[in-house]
Amino acid sequence: MDLTDSPQLATFRQRVRSWLQAHQSDAPTEKTGLHIKDIEPFRAWQRQLAEAGLVGVTWPVEFGGQGLGMIEQAVINSELYRLGLPGALDLIGLGNLGPTIIVHGTAGQKERHLKPLLTGDEIWCQFFSEPSAGSDLAGIRTRAVKTDEGWLLNGQKVWTTNAQHAAFGLLLARTDPSLPKHQGLSMFIVDMKAPGVQVRPLRQLTGMAAFNEVFFDNVELPETAIVGEVNDGWAVALTCLMYERFNLLTMLDQIGWQPSVFVQPLRDKIKPQHVQPLASVLVDLLAVRYSGHRALSKVAHGELPGPEAGLGKITLVDAAIRGAQIIAEVDGPSALDGQWGQVLAEMQGLRSGGGTDEILLNTIGERVLGLPGEPRVDKGMPFSEVMS
Ligand SMILES: Cc1cc2nc3c(=O)[nH]c(=O)nc-3n(C[C@H](O)[C@H](O)[C@H](O)COP(=O)(O)OP(=O)(O)OC[C@H]3O[C@@H](n4cnc5c(N)ncnc54)[C@H](O)[C@@H]3O)c2cc1C
Repeated sequence: MDLTDSPQLATFRQRVRSWLQAHQSDAPTEKTGLHIKDIEPFRAWQRQLAEAGLVGVTWPVEFGGQGLGMIEQAVINSELYRLGLPGALDLIGLGNLGPTIIVHGTAGQKERHLKPLLTGDEIWCQFFSEPSAGSDLAGIRTRAVKTDEGWLLNGQKVWTTNAQHAAFGLLLARTDPSLPKHQGLSMFIVDMKAPGVQVRPLRQLTGMAAFNEVFFDNVELPETAIVGEVNDGWAVALTCLMYERFNLLTMLDQIGWQPSVFVQPLRDKIKPQHVQPLASVLVDLLAVRYSGHRALSKVAHGELPGPEAGLGKITLVDAAIRGAQIIAEVDGPSALDGQWGQVLAEMQGLRSGGGTDEILLNTIGERVLGLPGEPRVDKGMPFSEVMS
């Protein structure tokens, strides 16, 4: 594990730091555009970051990226955090969906979509989860049926972050129910303005609505909407989920849950019974940081991050919730009105987002520890029989 910047990385960090210091007055004052109705200041900030080469840094140069690695993305994230600045508005589009189109998309899709995605002129959303398919993603039921002109889409997605702002979504649909569940799926680009697309906000415990349920009622998709091959959508989905895991790694160190975040508010008023639990939170946060460094260091030496990256998310979210609970206990009910109430309400959801604790632990059990796999009773069965 190498924790120091190479001379090349130190130069890159200095360049990023100087640019951010010079332009920080242009950034929106809120840290994230997720809960904001007026996203225009965040869109403008993403455009500025894109023009400075500070978003899509891992994208190939021919598609407007910098052709750099995850380490450079991690450096940018850490410098943004250091100055308390928000990052790009469309993290899902830049981090997962654009790279998936780069791998599986046609030349026409890349030409049409990548530039406006990079600059934030067109926001994207990810249509994977459904009411009866979250952890069991391959169990989705939204159907795309072949027509003479293209495809006819019917069904429902849920928990779709940013759908209320999105111009396009990447959507996994079932195209052949006679095949086993992982095989009859295809991936599509959906124009959010197409007739039959209806976005309904879902209000969360925080009082905000950052995600949505989205209904598709006889939505006509052109032939050119398909990403990858017909009935090979699972491979495209796996690419997307792999990028999601990579991106998490670039944020583990500086996602904002530094030990000081929890120590500072308790400094003068901590009670003896809270010392041990707080120490345990801090130890977990440090473990996440160093595991993140170790994984990034592996990547820098040409290896791929393994499924153990999921452990970082579980540990981080759990530690942040325990830290916020300690502060709420010390400060009493008034703590729940402000920042800490918000944290407690929001963080519970992150136990599910990006894979639930149980599913990530299952993956680690099976792929890292070599434990026996879960029984899969529907393996090889036509999906139409699973549904009936
Ligand atoms: C903040 C946030 C943003 C999100 N954004 C998006 C988005 O933009 N696009 C999108 O498509 N989705 C999004 N999601 C959805 C997310 O991917 C799902 O919540 C997640 O995959 C879990 O699915 P589910 O909610 O249907 O829960 P379920 O899969 O129904 O799980 C319910 C419970 O059962 C447990 N469980 C399920 N299967 C097993 C098993 N085999 N073994 C043990 N326990 C099991 C789970 O761990 C969980 O505790 C988002 C979620 C959140 C919280």
